[in-house]
Amino acid sequence: MYISSIINGETFKKESRDTLAVVNPYNQEEIAQIILATPDDLETAVTNSYETFHQTMKKMPAYKRADILLKTAELLKERKEDFAATIAEEAGKPLKFSRSEVDRAVQVIRFASEQAKQINGEVIPLDAAVGGENRFGFTKRVPLGVVAAITPFNFPLNLSLHKIAPALAAGNTVVFKPAEKTPISAYKLVQLFHEAGLPKGALNVVMGLGEELGDPLVEHDKVQKVTFTGSLPVGRGIREKAGFKKITLELGSNSPNIIFKDIDLEAPIESLVTGAFAFSGQVCISAQRIYVQQDIYHEFLEKFVNRTKALKIGDPLEDATEFGPMIDEKAAERAKTWIDDAVSKGATVETGGERNGTMLTPTIMTNVKNDMKIIAEEVFAPIVSVIPFHTEEEAVKYANESIYGLQAGIFTKDLNRAFSVADQLEMGGVWINEISTYRQDNHPYGGVKQSGIGREGVKYAIDDMTELKFIGIKLD
Ligand code: NAD
Repeated sequence: MYISSIINGETFKKESRDTLAVVNPYNQEEIAQIILATPDDLETAVTNSYETFHQTMKKMPAYKRADILLKTAELLKERKEDFAATIAEEAGKPLKFSRSEVDRAVQVIRFASEQAKQINGEVIPLDAAVGGENRFGFTKRVPLGVVAAITPFNFPLNLSLHKIAPALAAGNTVVFKPAEKTPISAYKLVQLFHEAGLPKGALNVVMGLGEELGDPLVEHDKVQKVTFTGSLPVGRGIREKAGFKKITLELGSNSPNIIFKDIDLEAPIESLVTGAFAFSGQVCISAQRIYVQQDIYHEFLEKFVNRTKALKIGDPLEDATEFGPMIDEKAAERAKTWIDDAVSKGATVETGGERNGTMLTPTIMTNVKNDMKIIAEEVFAPIVSVIPFHTEEEAVKYANESIYGLQAGIFTKDLNRAFSVADQLEMGGVWINEISTYRQDNHPYGGVKQSGIGREGVKYAIDDMTELKFIGIKLD
């Protein structure tokens, strides 16, 4: 199976183009070949998107954009099993999590369809200024033009839709550059939009290497906005190259979760096992650091380790599997060296820590220190550390000692304490009595510090994908 770029509705034949194998991370079988786009193809894609914006999308009424999005959501719902199997196969994500990704993706498109009809401005009271008599002014939110959407492998469908759906809802066109590891779901998604009636050229997908297509896309003068989800080093490079373009960066984190002694442990432990190990920890808000109040630390650790050991490890394409491979062997090797490094500096592996190919067993670490990579950096692997604390001040201090600040979780029955801690945490988002990994698709989502710039969550993404335009009238 060949996966090609889709530009103005057209796909490419292989002919003399280079290809790249797409491999199932669980068994290393080749499942497709990408026909790699060249910088010339990228140029064609951007130019076509630019023309489609001015000729078609800019003029399309909101009800029509909303209809196309709704139809796409319906088609995706119908094809849920196919998309879930595709994600399980190309990303190695267990089916149960792949299915919930598709469910969320359907919701994201629906939210975008609803929001397409709600994009509005406000009346400005111009007579508030001296000399403003007989003047009337209002604002409109207008589309930007071509939006470049660059996405990662870990939620290949839903995170792509968090960019594409709001961009189209607002009347922009999109040049979509999905991750090389997960191009199949991206390809099928673009076909789905076309089937739902999206004009050709409103969503062009370029299938190529980030290091080759990234710069020409980000620097292109016909691109008005770059929205990127991915790693910190790539995000930093994009920030430097994007110039005056609007930019959204959704980057990494080492999310903390703080467990106070006044809670019942059962429910948080169940959620934290999922939060730390779902999709092998390859989630930007994965629970990486768990701070537990000293009085319940040993009880928590024992129960957490026991529940983790019960995870069903296996083939992502099997229904019962709860834990599968990492995306590739290089990623698993890197994570294993971080575990070994921590152990050499005094950390303890409570369970896991064994690697076989792409599979790294669910790993719980204790006796960790702040300068160890498994604490200081984003692990993006099935590794979680459990750390005791005594006081609220200590917990807040530990949690904030990070270059990142995406989302955190706090567990306590004391609401005064919960609000106080939530206020003190340097995060884009805080959940009380819920884990850091929980996300809904309609709340603002994004980071502070080096976790990023801007917010997603459909309505908030639309704000960042439109320009506020003022129109004033002087009356006689
Ligand atoms: P990555 O940064 O390696 O790749 C992401 C995308 O960037 C891919 O499409 C890739 O081809 C492209 N890319 C690579 N080099 C580029 C360049 N020089 N210029 C432009 N684009 C380039 O990330 P990944 O490994 O696919 O994903 C994992 C990372 O994504 C983690 O750090 C994770 O925390 C982060 N992430 C963040 C969020 C969030 O919402 N904050 C969500 C998911 C993942």
